[in-house]
Amino acid sequence: MQEFRVRFAPSPTGPLHIGGVRTALYNYLLARKYNGSFILRIEDTDQKRFVPGAVEYIREALEWAGIVPDEGFGYGGTYGPYKQSERSDIYKKYVRQLLDSGKAYYAFDTPEELDALRKQYEAEGKTFMYDSSERMRLNNSLTLSSAEVRKRLEEGHPHVIRFKTEPGRELHINDLIRGAIKVNSSTLDDKVLMKSDGLPTYHLANIVDDRLMRITHVIRGEEWLPSLPLHILLYEAFGWKPPEFAHLPLILKPNGKGKLSKRDGVSGGFPVFPLQWQDPATGQTYSGYREEGYLPQAFVNILAFLGWNPGDEKEIFTLKELVQAFDLSRVNKSGARFDPEKAKWFQHQHFQKLSDEEMLKYIEPVLLKKLGGRAEEKVPKDYTKKVLSLVRERLTFPGDFWTWASYFYQAPEGYNPKTVKKRWKDDTSHLLNELLPEMENITPWEAASIKKQISSWIEAKALGFGKVLQPLRIALTGDLKGPDLFEMMALLGKEETLKRIRKAIETLK
Ligand code: GLU
Repeated sequence: MQEFRVRFAPSPTGPLHIGGVRTALYNYLLARKYNGSFILRIEDTDQKRFVPGAVEYIREALEWAGIVPDEGFGYGGTYGPYKQSERSDIYKKYVRQLLDSGKAYYAFDTPEELDALRKQYEAEGKTFMYDSSERMRLNNSLTLSSAEVRKRLEEGHPHVIRFKTEPGRELHINDLIRGAIKVNSSTLDDKVLMKSDGLPTYHLANIVDDRLMRITHVIRGEEWLPSLPLHILLYEAFGWKPPEFAHLPLILKPNGKGKLSKRDGVSGGFPVFPLQWQDPATGQTYSGYREEGYLPQAFVNILAFLGWNPGDEKEIFTLKELVQAFDLSRVNKSGARFDPEKAKWFQHQHFQKLSDEEMLKYIEPVLLKKLGGRAEEKVPKDYTKKVLSLVRERLTFPGDFWTWASYFYQAPEGYNPKTVKKRWKDDTSHLLNELLPEMENITPWEAASIKKQISSWIEAKALGFGKVLQPLRIALTGDLKGPDLFEMMALLGKEETLKRIRKAIETLK
């Protein structure tokens, strides 16, 4: 059987958008599922749009997400080079074939001439297309004598090479997601295959490379669907059997209206890039999933569900499980709405799946940042482990640890005035002053005994529990936050607990 071979073929024109990573992911999942190969090819023939750093970004993003190519640019393989700018001679050879067989022709029309034609047509309410109805009155090797063509080529006149699209043909194309597609070739123009800079256009390079790299399935974004008829005609012109095609649905804005863009991320406060990216032209920085604290396994789970579902209730998948479950037959035709809240939900689920040890690895850098050197010297790992067991259920991102647990590491810097107004009554300071000596006597200083002692004191004085416990919480955390009060006291230790209560009495009386 023929080996299953798929490729991800980004153009390094900027950072990879999550839509691009999803394309890579779907290709990767199928390659794993069918024991095939996943290839990374860099499509950089458009020199004008090349952005420095983009190739490195693409590779780093794939590696972080765990979608690692088997073959391709930076990964080796027998069908390289895998960067199109290093394959110019190959494309020249293949376009020559099309010229010789009369399937392509030289065109000398200048950009100014074509522009003038476009404007003239527009003025008449029509659209200009360089196609079979126009080509015979334009400046090309079909209308000029062969001597003239030769002369112009020898003299180095600027020119392009166009594909000679045969009109009037009903094309029947199959897409693995969209099903049968019918297109009449008369609606297509004579696309440029080679530009005046001697480099191929995307269309030519893409077809030649997919053929030479033995790609069996082309899985890519819906934006390439309009190019599919031309690609099919190109395969035919070369006499090659085309691969299978599958065009993935667009990823839509959270409101479902239009394609998700980087501006949506900025305005909605969520990342649309896998990794942070600084635009070299404007200096603007866009945050990434990695920098926001998403786990790679959550990130791929989010992406997998943008356009696909397994057909049952299961939503949380590891990459391995996705390989098992994923199939093109369950990829939707219609656009997939991106829901930032759902993305966080996936992250929460995956974060909760981590063991304490694993979670700790993500939390330590957060502590280090907040406490500086103190984190390692003064805060034993065992202590943080205990804190973690009290707050772990509340965490979605590593950074949340500080939100929920900062008061285990430092006394509150102030007290939330709103909470104080509501819960710290005129007699609170007096009451706590009475409670303090009782607390001094508690032994052992453990959650159960602290609870027992304080509770019986409250009962003996016939007070409401809230009247005492809520002020205690304010004293310890500055607000009504925090896990079980008695666990918290036990962990903070007697000395620190009493110190904070005294300080609160002093400050709030
Ligand atoms: N270079 C194209 C892109 O940037 C690849 C399209 C394809 O996969 O054929 O998306």
